[in-house]
Amino acid sequence: MILPIYIYGQSVLRKQAEDISLDYPDLKQLIQDMFETMHASDGVGLAAPQIGKSIRVVVIDLDVLKDDFPEYENFRRAFINPHILEYDDTETETLEEGCLSVPGIHESVTRPTRIHVKYVDEELKEHDEWVEGYLARVMQHEFDHLDGTMFVDRVKPLRKQLIRNKLKAMTQGKYRCAYRTKPLR
Ligand code: ZN
Repeated sequence: MILPIYIYGQSVLRKQAEDISLDYPDLKQLIQDMFETMHASDGVGLAAPQIGKSIRVVVIDLDVLKDDFPEYENFRRAFINPHILEYDDTETETLEEGCLSVPGIHESVTRPTRIHVKYVDEELKEHDEWVEGYLARVMQHEFDHLDGTMFVDRVKPLRKQLIRNKLKAMTQGKYRCAYRTKPLR
């Protein structure tokens, strides 16, 4: 089932999301719905707060990047209770990001290229590992959502100033996008 996406300004996006118990009701269905919702809106990642649930669940699909990154062919994974344990600040990279919850805005964000994460996968197996490259970037963007942080918070102040009016309009329901979104009320 394709679910409506919550847009910048809606309070669930600013909440600290909770870890879930691994027998969370209908978890498989929720993950499937999140994949469907993400695919319907051409995203590469989606966090549960973006569909109105303040829980630590994220889906990521990097298969569309396989021409540039062959290692991501068929990379479709769910992350349950993910947490970033450490950032390796020795190397950072600046790349343009966008977000299904911030339609029409794309801005450069500087992030560390390597992070230490822990999470549980869809088979309920625990992972504790270092991740790098594009996946590490997408993870940082998505896991930020679970702490109520959005990529526009990490944009340089001068650029932030330039998108301020667009963001304000968004909080009033003024934006355009091709996918289903959650109305303000
Ligand atoms: Zn996002």
